[in-house]
Amino acid sequence: MIPGPIEFTPEVLAATGQPTTSHVAPSFIAAFGEALERMRQVFGSPSGQPFILAGSGTLAMDSTAANLTEPGDRALVVNTGYFSDRFTAILRRYGAEVTEVKAPRVGDAPSVQQVRRALEMGPFKLMTLTHVDTSTAVRLDVRSLAAIGREHGTLVVVDGVCSVGGEELDQDGWGVDLVLTASQKAVGVPPGLALIMAGPRAIEAFARREAPVGSYYGDWTEWLPIMKAYEARAASYFGTPAVNLVWALRTSLEQIVSEGLTARAARHRRMAGAFRAATGALGLALVPVRPELYASTLTGVYYPESIDATLVGRAAEEGVILAGGLHPEIRTRYFRVGHMGAVTEADIYATVGAIEKALARGGRPGDSGAGLAAAARSLQG
Ligand SMILES: *Cc1c(COP(=O)(O)O)cnc(C)c1O
Repeated sequence: MIPGPIEFTPEVLAATGQPTTSHVAPSFIAAFGEALERMRQVFGSPSGQPFILAGSGTLAMDSTAANLTEPGDRALVVNTGYFSDRFTAILRRYGAEVTEVKAPRVGDAPSVQQVRRALEMGPFKLMTLTHVDTSTAVRLDVRSLAAIGREHGTLVVVDGVCSVGGEELDQDGWGVDLVLTASQKAVGVPPGLALIMAGPRAIEAFARREAPVGSYYGDWTEWLPIMKAYEARAASYFGTPAVNLVWALRTSLEQIVSEGLTARAARHRRMAGAFRAATGALGLALVPVRPELYASTLTGVYYPESIDATLVGRAAEEGVILAGGLHPEIRTRYFRVGHMGAVTEADIYATVGAIEKALARGGRPGDSGAGLAAAARSLQG
């Protein structure tokens, strides 16, 4: 139950484990082409240009920054935690002049007014939003923030590594210019794929650039023809794709689309709601400071008094793997629970049960079963 790699469906694991095909086998070309087409559906971006690269989510961020910034370009990072810090570092590496608008405290998000004021200090070539920051479990209101970004003529870039496939997303409808993610989180494929959906304005900005792209491997000049070829069901080569993972991606995207995007987002909301009902009943405080900031893909929970990070180890002894803290300011004070992808009611009960046991064994007297009862009420309600 960590926020990635998550658990994968048997069909995805079977696709991952099948005999590896050539990257130019007709069957693989078709699978790659279908994966690209289904990405548009899952991102809500009929107008977008998808990229599937071998690498992690950080490569998706790196390639985005490399292709959209030229030395001296100004960028605004809406900072909600660890992964926003990372975007700042990457953008600076490619020569961008970065301004950050930060949440007033850990677990909070900058307000729409704060972001608007920051944009007024522009112009900025691009702004970045972390849809769900995995270090704080804070979800941004991407729709509202993207709208002000567009008003100010800035490219809106969304780090959706912890959201795509779990949270509601309508890239074209919300006016977002680029969404990036990785395979191992809510997309439900083992680690190793960086996924990017670049909208028409992002592609135009890339095409207009004067300086060469500062990354050789991540350069869209090389990858655009490859993606177009696969989608046209033609053979091509720049770097060998992660063949088995692309087969798995095709399978997972098919499962996501057949569950239905609205139903899938609703299932994630329901699982997250049940988990939070349990933590509430157990008297545990959450990292996000307001309900509007609660994510559906993961939850950050503070340890109660007298309990420390040994809770994570105790839960593992009960068979449930939780993640420790990640945000540097509060790292030792909280733990994280991912509830995304193929997560079921049974997973939620097992997790809550393990946390209850771990709390009791850690010496915290409590109403054993209160969390399970609250989760059950939430799931039945
Ligand atoms: C996990 C994550 C990343 C980094 O992805 P990697 O695959 O670990 O490189 C970036 N942003 C967010 C929001 C994430 O959750």
